[in-house]
Amino acid sequence: MEDRLIVSVSGVRGIVGGSLTPQVAREFGRAFGTMLGAGKTVAIGRDTRPSGPELQGAVTAGLLDTGVNVVDLAVASTPAIALMTRLLAADGGVVVTASHNPGEYNGIKFLQPTGTGLTAADASKLKGVWQARRFATVEQDQRGRKSQDAGAGARHVETVAKCCDASAVAAARFKVVLDSVNGAGSLETPMLLERLGCELVHLNCEPTGDFAHPPEPVAENLAELCEVVKGQGAAVGFAQDADADRLAIVDENGVFIGEEYTLALATAFVLSKRRGKVATNMVTSRMIDDVAEAAGCEVIRTPTGEANVVEGMLAHECIFGGEGGGGVIEPRVVLVRDSLVAIAYVLQYMAETGRAMSELVARIPRYVMIKTKIPCGAGAAEKVAVAVRKVFETREDAAFNETDGLRVALPDAWVCARASNTEPIMRIIAEAGSRDVAEALVKKVREIAEAVTAED
Ligand code: MG
Repeated sequence: MEDRLIVSVSGVRGIVGGSLTPQVAREFGRAFGTMLGAGKTVAIGRDTRPSGPELQGAVTAGLLDTGVNVVDLAVASTPAIALMTRLLAADGGVVVTASHNPGEYNGIKFLQPTGTGLTAADASKLKGVWQARRFATVEQDQRGRKSQDAGAGARHVETVAKCCDASAVAAARFKVVLDSVNGAGSLETPMLLERLGCELVHLNCEPTGDFAHPPEPVAENLAELCEVVKGQGAAVGFAQDADADRLAIVDENGVFIGEEYTLALATAFVLSKRRGKVATNMVTSRMIDDVAEAAGCEVIRTPTGEANVVEGMLAHECIFGGEGGGGVIEPRVVLVRDSLVAIAYVLQYMAETGRAMSELVARIPRYVMIKTKIPCGAGAAEKVAVAVRKVFETREDAAFNETDGLRVALPDAWVCARASNTEPIMRIIAEAGSRDVAEALVKKVREIAEAVTAED
Protein backbone atom coordinates (compact mmCIF):
# COMPACT_ATOMS: atom_id res chain seq x y z
CA MET A 1 0.00 0.00 0.00
CA GLU A 2 1.42 3.35 -1.01
CA ASP A 3 1.80 5.69 1.96
CA ARG A 4 2.34 9.39 1.54
CA LEU A 5 0.97 12.19 3.61
CA ILE A 6 -1.86 13.82 1.68
CA VAL A 7 -2.25 17.49 2.53
CA SER A 8 -5.24 18.83 0.63
CA VAL A 9 -8.15 21.22 1.00
CA SER A 10 -9.94 18.54 3.07
CA GLY A 11 -7.07 18.34 5.58
CA VAL A 12 -4.28 15.88 6.29
CA ARG A 13 -4.44 12.11 5.80
CA GLY A 14 -1.94 9.28 6.04
CA ILE A 15 -1.18 5.86 7.47
CA VAL A 16 -0.72 6.01 11.22
CA GLY A 17 2.86 5.39 12.27
CA GLY A 18 3.96 5.80 8.65
CA SER A 19 3.40 9.20 7.04
CA LEU A 20 1.11 10.33 9.87
CA THR A 21 2.93 10.40 13.23
CA PRO A 22 2.23 12.25 16.49
CA GLN A 23 5.06 14.60 15.49
CA VAL A 24 3.33 15.50 12.21
CA ALA A 25 0.06 15.95 14.13
CA ARG A 26 1.73 18.29 16.63
CA GLU A 27 3.26 20.31 13.78
CA PHE A 28 -0.16 20.74 12.20
CA GLY A 29 -1.54 21.79 15.59
CA ARG A 30 1.19 24.40 15.75
CA ALA A 31 0.52 25.49 12.15
CA PHE A 32 -3.22 25.94 12.78
CA GLY A 33 -2.47 27.73 16.06
CA THR A 34 -0.03 30.01 14.26
CA MET A 35 -2.72 30.91 11.72
CA LEU A 36 -5.28 31.68 14.43
CA GLY A 37 -3.00 33.43 16.95
CA ALA A 38 -2.48 33.16 20.72
CA GLY A 39 -5.55 33.62 22.88
CA LYS A 40 -7.92 32.03 20.35
CA THR A 41 -9.96 28.88 21.04
CA VAL A 42 -10.27 25.65 19.08
CA ALA A 43 -12.81 22.84 19.60
CA ILE A 44 -11.33 19.40 18.88
CA GLY A 45 -12.77 15.90 18.75
CA ARG A 46 -12.23 12.60 16.97
CA ASP A 47 -13.78 9.50 15.49
CA THR A 48 -13.29 6.13 17.19
CA ARG A 49 -10.03 4.95 15.58
CA PRO A 50 -7.62 3.50 18.18
CA SER A 51 -4.96 5.98 17.01
CA GLY A 52 -7.34 8.88 17.75
CA PRO A 53 -6.48 9.69 21.39
CA GLU A 54 -2.73 9.93 20.72
CA LEU A 55 -3.15 12.02 17.57
CA GLN A 56 -5.74 14.29 19.17
CA GLY A 57 -3.35 14.74 22.10
CA ALA A 58 -0.55 15.68 19.69
CA VAL A 59 -2.66 18.22 17.74
CA THR A 60 -3.83 19.64 21.08
CA ALA A 61 -0.24 19.97 22.31
CA GLY A 62 0.67 21.80 19.10
CA LEU A 63 -2.23 24.23 19.54
CA LEU A 64 -1.34 24.85 23.20
CA ASP A 65 2.29 25.47 22.11
CA THR A 66 1.04 28.52 20.20
CA GLY A 67 -1.03 29.90 23.08
CA VAL A 68 -4.34 28.68 21.64
CA ASN A 69 -6.93 27.31 24.11
CA VAL A 70 -8.47 23.94 23.35
CA VAL A 71 -11.87 22.43 24.17
CA ASP A 72 -11.70 18.63 24.08
CA LEU A 73 -14.94 17.12 22.74
CA ALA A 74 -13.59 13.52 22.77
CA VAL A 75 -15.39 11.06 20.45
CA ALA A 76 -18.18 12.61 18.38
CA SER A 77 -19.35 12.69 14.78
CA THR A 78 -17.86 15.26 12.42
CA PRO A 79 -21.19 17.17 12.28
CA ALA A 80 -21.36 17.21 16.11
CA ILE A 81 -17.83 18.62 16.35
CA ALA A 82 -18.62 21.16 13.65
CA LEU A 83 -21.82 22.17 15.44
CA MET A 84 -19.96 22.57 18.76
CA THR A 85 -17.31 24.70 17.06
CA ARG A 86 -20.12 27.10 16.18
CA LEU A 87 -22.09 26.82 19.44
CA LEU A 88 -18.96 27.40 21.57
CA ALA A 89 -18.13 30.40 19.35
CA ALA A 90 -14.68 28.85 18.86
CA ASP A 91 -12.25 30.41 16.39
CA GLY A 92 -11.75 27.08 14.66
CA GLY A 93 -12.36 23.36 14.94
CA VAL A 94 -10.37 20.17 14.43
CA VAL A 95 -11.64 16.66 13.74
CA VAL A 96 -9.19 13.77 14.00
CA THR A 97 -10.69 11.35 11.48
CA ALA A 98 -9.94 9.56 8.25
CA SER A 99 -13.66 9.46 7.44
CA HIS A 100 -14.43 6.46 5.21
CA ASN A 101 -10.80 5.30 4.84
CA PRO A 102 -9.66 1.95 6.31
CA GLY A 103 -8.52 1.60 9.92
CA GLU A 104 -4.79 1.98 9.27
CA TYR A 105 -5.43 5.56 8.18
CA ASN A 106 -6.15 8.61 10.22
CA GLY A 107 -6.38 12.27 9.38
CA ILE A 108 -6.84 15.80 10.64
CA LYS A 109 -9.62 18.03 9.35
CA PHE A 110 -9.62 21.76 10.12
CA LEU A 111 -12.82 23.77 10.46
CA GLN A 112 -13.83 27.41 10.18
CA PRO A 113 -15.72 29.03 13.09
CA THR A 114 -18.95 28.16 11.23
CA GLY A 115 -18.04 24.47 11.38
CA THR A 116 -17.37 24.20 7.64
CA GLY A 117 -14.00 22.92 6.43
CA LEU A 118 -11.36 25.51 5.57
CA THR A 119 -11.58 27.41 2.32
CA ALA A 120 -9.04 26.45 -0.35
CA ALA A 121 -7.15 29.69 0.41
CA ASP A 122 -6.92 28.97 4.14
CA ALA A 123 -6.02 25.33 3.53
CA SER A 124 -3.12 26.37 1.33
CA LYS A 125 -2.06 29.00 3.89
CA LEU A 126 -2.03 26.29 6.57
CA LYS A 127 0.02 24.02 4.34
CA GLY A 128 2.48 26.86 3.73
CA VAL A 129 2.95 27.49 7.47
CA TRP A 130 3.49 23.77 8.03
CA GLN A 131 5.95 23.38 5.14
CA ALA A 132 8.01 26.38 6.28
CA ARG A 133 7.78 25.23 9.92
CA ARG A 134 7.28 28.88 10.84
CA PHE A 135 5.40 28.29 14.08
CA ALA A 136 4.54 31.14 16.47
CA THR A 137 5.18 29.16 19.66
CA VAL A 138 4.90 30.93 22.99
CA GLU A 139 6.76 30.75 26.32
CA GLN A 140 5.80 27.96 28.72
CA ASP A 141 3.77 30.27 30.98
CA GLN A 142 1.73 31.52 28.02
CA ARG A 143 0.73 28.15 26.64
CA GLY A 144 -2.98 27.69 25.98
CA ARG A 145 -5.37 26.05 28.44
CA LYS A 146 -7.33 22.89 27.90
CA SER A 147 -10.91 22.19 28.96
CA GLN A 148 -13.43 19.46 28.30
CA ASP A 149 -16.99 19.34 27.02
CA ALA A 150 -18.70 15.96 26.91
CA GLY A 151 -21.96 17.26 25.47
CA ALA A 152 -21.28 17.32 21.72
CA GLY A 153 -23.33 14.26 20.78
CA ALA A 154 -26.33 15.22 22.91
CA ARG A 155 -26.40 18.80 21.62
CA HIS A 156 -26.13 17.56 18.07
CA VAL A 157 -29.08 15.20 18.53
CA GLU A 158 -31.05 18.01 20.18
CA THR A 159 -30.41 20.33 17.23
CA VAL A 160 -31.30 17.73 14.61
CA ALA A 161 -34.47 16.72 16.47
CA LYS A 162 -35.62 20.38 16.50
CA CYS A 163 -35.49 20.43 12.69
CA CYS A 164 -37.89 17.54 12.25
CA ASP A 165 -41.28 16.47 13.58
CA ALA A 166 -40.21 13.82 16.09
CA SER A 167 -43.77 12.92 17.06
CA ALA A 168 -44.80 12.36 13.43
CA VAL A 169 -41.92 9.92 13.02
CA ALA A 170 -42.57 8.30 16.41
CA ALA A 171 -46.21 7.65 15.45
CA ALA A 172 -45.01 5.39 12.62
CA ARG A 173 -43.05 3.20 15.08
CA PHE A 174 -40.43 2.26 12.50
CA LYS A 175 -38.12 -0.66 13.01
CA VAL A 176 -34.70 0.53 11.87
CA VAL A 177 -31.43 -1.34 11.38
CA LEU A 178 -28.37 0.89 11.76
CA ASP A 179 -24.76 -0.03 10.94
CA SER A 180 -22.43 2.47 12.63
CA VAL A 181 -19.30 0.48 11.66
CA ASN A 182 -18.12 0.92 15.31
CA GLY A 183 -17.45 4.54 14.37
CA ALA A 184 -18.42 7.93 15.76
CA GLY A 185 -22.09 7.44 14.95
CA SER A 186 -22.30 4.57 17.47
CA LEU A 187 -23.00 6.88 20.42
CA GLU A 188 -25.10 9.73 19.02
CA THR A 189 -27.33 8.01 16.53
CA PRO A 190 -29.19 5.72 18.98
CA MET A 191 -30.08 8.85 20.99
CA LEU A 192 -31.68 10.36 17.89
CA LEU A 193 -33.55 7.19 16.94
CA GLU A 194 -34.87 6.94 20.48
CA ARG A 195 -36.15 10.52 20.22
CA LEU A 196 -37.84 9.51 16.97
CA GLY A 197 -39.55 6.55 18.65
CA CYS A 198 -37.88 3.93 16.48
CA GLU A 199 -37.19 0.34 17.40
CA LEU A 200 -33.46 0.01 16.79
CA VAL A 201 -31.42 -3.00 15.72
CA HIS A 202 -27.90 -1.63 15.99
CA LEU A 203 -25.05 -3.36 14.16
CA ASN A 204 -21.40 -2.51 14.84
CA CYS A 205 -22.49 -0.21 17.63
CA GLU A 206 -19.38 -0.13 19.86
CA PRO A 207 -17.28 3.04 19.60
CA THR A 208 -14.07 1.00 19.32
CA GLY A 209 -12.90 1.93 15.84
CA ASP A 210 -12.56 -1.81 15.22
CA PHE A 211 -14.24 -1.67 11.81
CA ALA A 212 -16.25 -4.81 11.08
CA HIS A 213 -15.99 -3.97 7.37
CA PRO A 214 -14.28 -1.19 5.39
CA PRO A 215 -15.99 1.97 6.69
CA GLU A 216 -17.13 3.35 3.34
CA PRO A 217 -20.92 3.00 3.10
CA VAL A 218 -21.02 1.42 -0.36
CA ALA A 219 -22.74 -1.77 -1.60
CA GLU A 220 -19.83 -4.20 -1.22
CA ASN A 221 -19.44 -3.33 2.48
CA LEU A 222 -23.08 -3.58 3.49
CA ALA A 223 -24.03 -7.23 2.91
CA GLU A 224 -24.72 -7.83 6.61
CA LEU A 225 -26.93 -4.74 6.86
CA CYS A 226 -28.99 -5.83 3.84
CA GLU A 227 -29.42 -9.31 5.29
CA VAL A 228 -30.47 -8.09 8.73
CA VAL A 229 -32.99 -5.55 7.35
CA LYS A 230 -34.68 -8.32 5.43
CA GLY A 231 -34.40 -10.91 8.20
CA GLN A 232 -35.78 -8.52 10.83
CA GLY A 233 -38.58 -7.22 8.62
CA ALA A 234 -37.32 -3.69 9.25
CA ALA A 235 -38.70 -0.63 7.47
CA VAL A 236 -35.27 0.64 6.47
CA GLY A 237 -31.52 0.18 7.01
CA PHE A 238 -28.95 2.94 7.46
CA ALA A 239 -25.15 2.80 7.16
CA GLN A 240 -22.79 5.50 8.37
CA ASP A 241 -19.12 6.02 7.63
CA ALA A 242 -16.60 6.23 10.49
CA ASP A 243 -17.16 9.93 11.26
CA ALA A 244 -20.90 9.77 10.58
CA ASP A 245 -21.15 12.55 8.04
CA ARG A 246 -22.25 10.23 5.22
CA LEU A 247 -25.27 7.93 5.07
CA ALA A 248 -26.33 5.09 2.79
CA ILE A 249 -29.78 3.52 2.75
CA VAL A 250 -31.11 -0.03 2.40
CA ASP A 251 -34.81 -0.46 1.54
CA GLU A 252 -37.33 -2.69 3.35
CA ASN A 253 -36.52 -5.57 1.00
CA GLY A 254 -32.88 -5.52 2.03
CA VAL A 255 -31.81 -3.85 -1.22
CA PHE A 256 -29.01 -1.27 -1.11
CA ILE A 257 -30.50 1.65 -3.04
CA GLY A 258 -27.20 3.37 -3.86
CA GLU A 259 -25.57 6.24 -1.98
CA GLU A 260 -26.74 8.84 -4.53
CA TYR A 261 -30.33 8.44 -3.30
CA THR A 262 -29.67 9.84 0.18
CA LEU A 263 -29.41 13.44 -1.00
CA ALA A 264 -32.21 13.03 -3.57
CA LEU A 265 -34.66 11.66 -0.98
CA ALA A 266 -33.73 14.19 1.71
CA THR A 267 -34.06 17.01 -0.83
CA ALA A 268 -37.48 15.71 -1.92
CA PHE A 269 -38.54 15.80 1.73
CA VAL A 270 -37.18 19.31 2.38
CA LEU A 271 -38.77 20.73 -0.79
CA SER A 272 -42.12 19.18 0.17
CA LYS A 273 -42.02 21.50 3.21
CA ARG A 274 -40.25 24.63 1.98
CA ARG A 275 -39.32 26.00 -1.41
CA GLY A 276 -35.88 27.36 -2.18
CA LYS A 277 -32.64 26.73 -4.00
CA VAL A 278 -30.47 23.69 -3.35
CA ALA A 279 -26.77 23.22 -4.09
CA THR A 280 -24.66 20.21 -4.97
CA ASN A 281 -21.41 19.45 -6.77
CA MET A 282 -20.74 18.68 -10.44
CA VAL A 283 -20.74 14.92 -10.10
CA THR A 284 -23.86 14.35 -8.02
CA SER A 285 -26.69 12.45 -9.69
CA ARG A 286 -29.19 14.41 -11.73
CA MET A 287 -31.93 12.89 -9.58
CA ILE A 288 -31.66 16.12 -7.59
CA ASP A 289 -32.51 18.08 -10.76
CA ASP A 290 -35.67 16.00 -11.22
CA VAL A 291 -36.66 16.38 -7.56
CA ALA A 292 -36.04 20.14 -7.63
CA GLU A 293 -37.81 20.61 -10.96
CA ALA A 294 -40.90 18.81 -9.66
CA ALA A 295 -40.97 21.29 -6.77
CA GLY A 296 -40.27 24.27 -9.05
CA CYS A 297 -36.88 24.91 -7.44
CA GLU A 298 -33.41 25.62 -8.77
CA VAL A 299 -30.24 23.50 -8.39
CA ILE A 300 -26.86 25.26 -8.09
CA ARG A 301 -23.90 23.15 -9.28
CA THR A 302 -20.65 23.94 -7.45
CA PRO A 303 -17.10 22.63 -7.71
CA THR A 304 -16.48 19.32 -5.96
CA GLY A 305 -15.56 19.46 -2.28
CA GLU A 306 -17.74 20.04 0.73
CA ALA A 307 -16.44 23.57 1.41
CA ASN A 308 -17.27 24.53 -2.19
CA VAL A 309 -20.83 23.23 -1.88
CA VAL A 310 -21.24 25.23 1.33
CA GLU A 311 -19.83 28.33 -0.33
CA GLY A 312 -22.38 27.89 -3.13
CA MET A 313 -25.17 27.41 -0.61
CA LEU A 314 -24.27 30.65 1.16
CA ALA A 315 -23.78 32.64 -2.05
CA HIS A 316 -27.17 31.56 -3.43
CA GLU A 317 -29.04 31.45 -0.09
CA CYS A 318 -29.85 27.78 -0.54
CA ILE A 319 -32.14 26.09 1.94
CA PHE A 320 -30.47 22.69 1.53
CA GLY A 321 -27.53 21.03 -0.16
CA GLY A 322 -25.07 18.18 -0.15
CA GLU A 323 -23.04 15.71 -2.14
CA GLY A 324 -23.94 12.53 -3.98
CA GLY A 325 -21.90 10.19 -1.81
CA GLY A 326 -24.56 10.22 0.92
CA GLY A 327 -23.85 13.66 2.38
CA VAL A 328 -26.70 16.06 3.14
CA ILE A 329 -26.14 19.59 4.46
CA GLU A 330 -28.84 21.30 6.52
CA PRO A 331 -27.88 24.92 7.26
CA ARG A 332 -30.29 25.00 10.22
CA VAL A 333 -28.10 22.39 11.96
CA VAL A 334 -24.56 23.09 10.75
CA LEU A 335 -22.88 23.67 7.41
CA VAL A 336 -21.35 20.21 7.01
CA ARG A 337 -22.62 16.84 5.81
CA ASP A 338 -24.66 15.14 8.49
CA SER A 339 -25.89 11.52 8.54
CA LEU A 340 -28.21 12.22 11.48
CA VAL A 341 -30.07 14.90 9.52
CA ALA A 342 -30.39 12.46 6.62
CA ILE A 343 -31.81 9.76 8.92
CA ALA A 344 -34.35 12.12 10.50
CA TYR A 345 -35.55 13.54 7.17
CA VAL A 346 -35.81 10.20 5.39
CA LEU A 347 -37.82 8.74 8.30
CA GLN A 348 -40.14 11.74 8.42
CA TYR A 349 -40.59 11.50 4.65
CA MET A 350 -41.60 7.83 5.00
CA ALA A 351 -43.88 8.62 7.96
CA GLU A 352 -45.70 11.52 6.30
CA THR A 353 -46.16 9.93 2.89
CA GLY A 354 -46.97 6.50 4.32
CA ARG A 355 -44.78 5.06 1.57
CA ALA A 356 -42.19 2.32 1.95
CA MET A 357 -38.58 3.17 1.09
CA SER A 358 -38.74 1.17 -2.16
CA GLU A 359 -41.83 3.17 -3.21
CA LEU A 360 -40.11 6.50 -2.51
CA VAL A 361 -37.14 5.32 -4.57
CA ALA A 362 -39.40 4.21 -7.43
CA ARG A 363 -40.89 7.73 -7.66
CA ILE A 364 -37.50 9.19 -8.63
CA PRO A 365 -36.23 8.62 -12.20
CA ARG A 366 -33.50 5.97 -12.27
CA TYR A 367 -30.10 6.69 -13.80
CA VAL A 368 -26.89 4.80 -14.40
CA MET A 369 -23.63 6.48 -13.42
CA ILE A 370 -20.33 5.29 -14.92
CA LYS A 371 -16.98 6.41 -13.51
CA THR A 372 -13.46 5.94 -14.78
CA LYS A 373 -10.05 7.54 -14.30
CA ILE A 374 -7.03 8.02 -16.52
CA PRO A 375 -3.48 9.22 -15.76
CA CYS A 376 -3.29 12.95 -16.34
CA GLY A 377 -0.67 15.53 -15.36
CA ALA A 378 -1.69 18.87 -13.89
CA GLY A 379 -0.95 20.75 -17.13
CA ALA A 380 -2.99 18.50 -19.40
CA ALA A 381 -6.34 18.85 -17.60
CA GLU A 382 -7.11 22.26 -19.03
CA LYS A 383 -6.27 21.17 -22.58
CA VAL A 384 -8.57 18.17 -22.16
CA ALA A 385 -11.41 20.48 -21.09
CA VAL A 386 -10.90 22.67 -24.15
CA ALA A 387 -10.83 19.66 -26.49
CA VAL A 388 -13.94 18.08 -24.94
CA ARG A 389 -15.84 21.33 -25.10
CA LYS A 390 -14.97 21.76 -28.76
CA VAL A 391 -16.50 18.36 -29.57
CA PHE A 392 -19.73 18.92 -27.62
CA GLU A 393 -20.14 22.52 -28.79
CA THR A 394 -21.43 21.14 -32.07
CA ARG A 395 -24.56 20.11 -30.15
CA GLU A 396 -27.07 22.88 -29.62
CA ASP A 397 -28.58 21.24 -26.56
CA ALA A 398 -25.33 21.01 -24.59
CA ALA A 399 -24.71 23.31 -21.60
CA PHE A 400 -21.25 23.77 -20.08
CA ASN A 401 -20.07 24.38 -16.54
CA GLU A 402 -16.34 25.03 -16.22
CA THR A 403 -16.02 25.96 -12.55
CA ASP A 404 -14.36 22.60 -11.78
CA GLY A 405 -12.97 20.76 -14.79
CA LEU A 406 -15.68 20.55 -17.43
CA ARG A 407 -19.25 19.38 -16.97
CA VAL A 408 -21.36 18.93 -20.08
CA ALA A 409 -25.09 18.78 -19.40
CA LEU A 410 -27.30 17.27 -22.11
CA PRO A 411 -31.11 17.14 -21.93
CA ASP A 412 -31.14 13.69 -20.32
CA ALA A 413 -27.51 12.98 -19.42
CA TRP A 414 -24.27 14.60 -18.33
CA VAL A 415 -20.56 13.93 -18.42
CA CYS A 416 -17.83 15.50 -16.30
CA ALA A 417 -14.03 15.44 -16.67
CA ARG A 418 -12.00 16.83 -13.80
CA ALA A 419 -8.47 16.52 -12.46
CA SER A 420 -8.06 15.04 -8.96
CA ASN A 421 -6.83 17.39 -6.22
CA THR A 422 -4.69 14.71 -4.62
CA GLU A 423 -3.47 12.41 -7.43
CA PRO A 424 -2.15 12.90 -11.00
CA ILE A 425 -5.32 11.49 -12.52
CA MET A 426 -8.42 12.71 -14.30
CA ARG A 427 -11.82 11.37 -13.36
CA ILE A 428 -14.42 10.97 -16.07
CA ILE A 429 -17.97 10.47 -14.87
CA ALA A 430 -21.19 10.24 -16.85
CA GLU A 431 -24.80 9.63 -15.96
CA ALA A 432 -27.72 8.77 -18.23
CA GLY A 433 -31.01 6.92 -18.28
CA SER A 434 -29.32 3.84 -19.74
CA ARG A 435 -25.97 2.13 -19.26
CA ASP A 436 -25.24 2.27 -23.00
CA VAL A 437 -25.60 6.03 -23.18
CA ALA A 438 -23.53 6.62 -20.02
CA GLU A 439 -20.79 4.27 -21.22
CA ALA A 440 -20.72 5.89 -24.65
CA LEU A 441 -20.30 9.34 -23.06
CA VAL A 442 -17.42 8.15 -20.87
CA LYS A 443 -15.78 6.44 -23.85
CA LYS A 444 -16.08 9.53 -26.01
CA VAL A 445 -14.52 11.84 -23.40
CA ARG A 446 -11.89 9.27 -22.51
CA GLU A 447 -10.77 9.03 -26.14
CA ILE A 448 -10.52 12.80 -26.44
CA ALA A 449 -8.58 13.03 -23.15
CA GLU A 450 -6.20 10.21 -24.09
CA ALA A 451 -5.47 11.83 -27.45
CA VAL A 452 -4.64 15.12 -25.68
CA THR A 453 -2.49 13.55 -22.93
CA ALA A 454 -0.62 11.40 -25.51
CA GLU A 455 0.55 14.64 -27.19
CA ASP A 456 1.72 16.05 -23.87
MG1 MG B 1 -16.92 10.94 6.47
